[in-house]
Amino acid sequence: MPNDLIFAAPDLSVAAIAGSTSGFPVRRIFCVGRNYAAHAAEMGNEVDREAPFYFTKSAHALCASGSTIAYPPGTQDCHYEMEFVVAVGQPAFRVTKGDAMAAVWGYGCGIDLTRRDLQGAAKDKRRPWDLGKDFENSAILASLSPAADFGEIDAQSIKLMRNGETVQAARLSDMVWSVPEIIAHLSGFYHLRPGDLIYTGTPAGVGPVQSGDVLQGAVDDLTPVELSIGARE
Ligand code: MN
Repeated sequence: MPNDLIFAAPDLSVAAIAGSTSGFPVRRIFCVGRNYAAHAAEMGNEVDREAPFYFTKSAHALCASGSTIAYPPGTQDCHYEMEFVVAVGQPAFRVTKGDAMAAVWGYGCGIDLTRRDLQGAAKDKRRPWDLGKDFENSAILASLSPAADFGEIDAQSIKLMRNGETVQAARLSDMVWSVPEIIAHLSGFYHLRPGDLIYTGTPAGVGPVQSGDVLQGAVDDLTPVELSIGARE
């Protein structure tokens, strides 16, 4: 191993924890695609009921709730996607659905910002989605809550307001793949570790953001997420 670094190590991405001065160090960000049937339909896709699928975002895409960000570069069609986020706190590898929830530390409200035009172009050319999904400030996250402070997942609602108007509203029970199913499946491909986040997909009602917009998202038992879209850089 080298003795030192030629420049300062990149900042660690840290998520806030509700009611605590401690932070949750973020390791990886996994995102589930097409996990609500109505959203898959609005995008012209069918839900794959054989298995969930994923894309990833760098931990450096994390953006704290309450931020104002510049309208993202390189896109004319940036979309909001409100999501329920699972925070992993225990290792999990090839766990069963029955054992999966032991890996969960807690939950948070997130927004998966998406450069929809770039994602669409990539889909058309059968290319990866990275430019459309994995960019700076594209993984918005509110303060996390421990699982013990959160009620039954299926009983809760998820919603997003754009400038005070509700644009997304669903139940977490609408998810095609449940949280334990996602963890069990994902743990067959990765050694999940503390600090990993899983964005569990978005309900129907996604749409574009404009400079000046304020997004406010909520899940019943969680700290709401808020994001303001500023001018282009
Ligand atoms: Mn998403």
